[in-house]
Amino acid sequence: MSGIPFNVPNLVGKELWYVAQAHARGQLAGDGLFTKRCERWLEAWTKSPRVLLTHSCTAALEMAALLLDVKPGDEIIMPSFTFVSTANAFALRGATPVFVDIDPIHFNIDPSAIEAAISPRTKAVVPVHYAGVSCQLAAILALAGRHSIAVVEDAAQAMGSSFEGRALGTLGCLGALSFHETKNVISGEGGALLVNDPALIEQAEVIREKGTNRSKFFRGEVDKYTWVEVGSSFLPGEIIAAFLFAQLEQAEHINAERWKLWDGYHARLGEVEALELLTRPQREASANAHMYQVLLPRGVCRDAVLAGLKAAGVHAVFHYVPLHSSPAGLRLGRTAGSLAVTDDISERLIRLPMWLNGLDLDQVCAALTDVLKRVAK
Ligand SMILES: *Cc1c(COP(=O)(O)O)cnc(C)c1O
Repeated sequence: MSGIPFNVPNLVGKELWYVAQAHARGQLAGDGLFTKRCERWLEAWTKSPRVLLTHSCTAALEMAALLLDVKPGDEIIMPSFTFVSTANAFALRGATPVFVDIDPIHFNIDPSAIEAAISPRTKAVVPVHYAGVSCQLAAILALAGRHSIAVVEDAAQAMGSSFEGRALGTLGCLGALSFHETKNVISGEGGALLVNDPALIEQAEVIREKGTNRSKFFRGEVDKYTWVEVGSSFLPGEIIAAFLFAQLEQAEHINAERWKLWDGYHARLGEVEALELLTRPQREASANAHMYQVLLPRGVCRDAVLAGLKAAGVHAVFHYVPLHSSPAGLRLGRTAGSLAVTDDISERLIRLPMWLNGLDLDQVCAALTDVLKRVAK
């Protein structure tokens, strides 16, 4: 791709060396040395009592749906402004996603919309920490407690972010991280389930291991291993885990470098914001600089801005097509309350390139300023 790509998955440390080691050790299937290293590292970093590596955040969310015994007729409240996996994981179990609106500042699920959407069928709420910025978890945890519904955090974008000093993904009974190549810490495809409720740990291990008690067997707790429950294969192989471990070792460095880019964008785009050609995101120090997204003024054609940027060699992208108006969302889900903020934000948002090692912010910001001045006339 010529010009400045939106994302470049970079090596940051010993990825290839650890991959070679994994091969040399002679175990490429999952749950070996590197999987365990990643899990212990993530448990220490997040303080979750049990972290299970999965092959994606999608898989971790699917495990969450199985662990909560989600069934047809259950309702799961979530934002419409999210990635398809948030809804898919629960729709796969026959549940109904109930889409509610977001707040207009951080684009996170609106707690008052959750409260209004709760019905006797509500089983769980899935807050998504958009751009790695925490949802209003105090309000969400309180209302979930009042109504006895589970909280599953979609923390796909939130590796390294926190809420009141606690890692995102550890405040709900379950949390899901992603290590997809577009996230901060990567392994190509990859994810983790944070099992924060100790009562769910044993069953989570069974579900991840095709419904067997293999984990117990290897710990010597049972003398043979067998099929004990419904489950699937949610376990990544050691090559992925080896790659991921090298990234985890550099997680603080990665996020610090992303903050430099985030702050670099923020400083450069202040003037354009003063001209009312865009709105910058608000800086939240407890987040992880996952994304730098700007909102275009109403009435400015986003496609024209993206096309203008592309002509200048800058590959910026829009984000979610709201799930409530997607073909599957219309068929499998329902809405609760107004989705006006979601509809408005999703039409005006663009994400700017964000990757380590050589991203030219001056070029991106000059191109953006130039295009906006032309398109907004
Ligand atoms: C990336 C992402 C996912 C899916 O992650 P995978 O690891 O690709 O399965 C789910 N939810 C949100 C909000 C995401 O950003």
